[in-house]
Amino acid sequence: MNVGIVGSRRYRPVGLIGRLLDQLEDAYPLLTIVSGGEPTGVDNAVAEACRARGYHECSDRLCTRRRHLVEHLPTEKKRAAYFARNTLIAKDSQELYAFYAPGPLSPGTTDTVMKADSHIPVWTHHEGEWVHN
Ligand SMILES: [Zn+2]
Repeated sequence: MNVGIVGSRRYRPVGLIGRLLDQLEDAYPLLTIVSGGEPTGVDNAVAEACRARGYHECSDRLCTRRRHLVEHLPTEKKRAAYFARNTLIAKDSQELYAFYAPGPLSPGTTDTVMKADSHIPVWTHHEGEWVHN
């Protein structure tokens, strides 16, 4: 199962991410976490949690390890590259979890949520509440 986990670059809900990973590991014998590879915020907390849990970082479909982390980084520091990266995360995931920082919804996370919403189940977390889109 490929599960996307994305969110704000200025939010680090380490406890929530740990609980989500616990649930996903219980639910799926084979689990690949797909994230955006940002050096701060949610993406970074996801990557650190996966590394601490011994996830293998590769995108080889023939790899036999049960837990994987795949990060889709933008190819360049341009707006279009970030949106292309978000498209790739949405395409590569079979379900998506998005963590919004408190306050106004960040446009980058919303972009990924909208792209995923058209074809897979999406859950968003904002100000203490989960919403199933
Ligand atoms: Zn691997």
